[in-house]
Amino acid sequence: MGIQFSQLTNQQLIKQLTLDLEQQQCRFIVTANPEIVLYARKHFEYATILKQADLITADGIGIVIGAKLLGQPLPERVTGFDTLQQLLKVAEKKQKSVYFLGARATVLNTALKNIQRQYPKLIIAGYHDGYYQSAAEIGQTIKQLQPDIVLVALGFPKQETFISQYAAGTHAIWMGVGGSFDVIAGKVKRAPLFWQKHHIEWCYRLLQEPSRLPRMLALPKYLLLVLGQKFHLVH
Ligand code: UDP
Repeated sequence: MGIQFSQLTNQQLIKQLTLDLEQQQCRFIVTANPEIVLYARKHFEYATILKQADLITADGIGIVIGAKLLGQPLPERVTGFDTLQQLLKVAEKKQKSVYFLGARATVLNTALKNIQRQYPKLIIAGYHDGYYQSAAEIGQTIKQLQPDIVLVALGFPKQETFISQYAAGTHAIWMGVGGSFDVIAGKVKRAPLFWQKHHIEWCYRLLQEPSRLPRMLALPKYLLLVLGQKFHLVH
């Protein structure tokens, strides 16, 4: 559907990113869910930004099902949240620094406290909330700080747009992580493992935040589109 998803498993991705960190490669990682796929189909500029990504992972069971239906199966779901946790673990172990951008200031502060508790030896290069005046200033600060990892929690399409503008020329792994800081701060709860394992995490999220219903309608819309493509009804 116009998006080239990575075939890597969670484990393979972390192995690759660990190598990239050691080699100080500049990387742009997107974790895309059905909402992102639909948005990119309607917004050419955003689709162009996604084409610049080094790696796009299947963030959600919808993408895995869609890929299977279209005869191009993906090994498993690779979520932004899990990748973020694994990256922080690697960063702490290898003493690589991380910059955190995004979320409300209070949420970000709580998230950082929780992260420091969980990863006491993690090097935090810097941070800023996601409600800033000048993106250029923040981009410039990040360049000067030279972190090894930049986590951008602005939600799509803002986070990918930001990364596409400021990642060039750095030696960092940049990844859009959506609402992950809200989860780390405890503002939003991630579904317990039972819901995750049975692929109904989306249902848990909906029960927690019913106001997300219009956004979540992206999932059935996306699956209908996949079926349309499968039977050559739409392009
Ligand atoms: N956000 C931000 N700046 C903005 C808009 C959004 O920092 O201008 C943050 C918002 O506070 C939240 C995250 O971006 O922490 C987006 O969360 P959402 O749940 O929409 O993302 P998803 O995980 O669904 O992509």
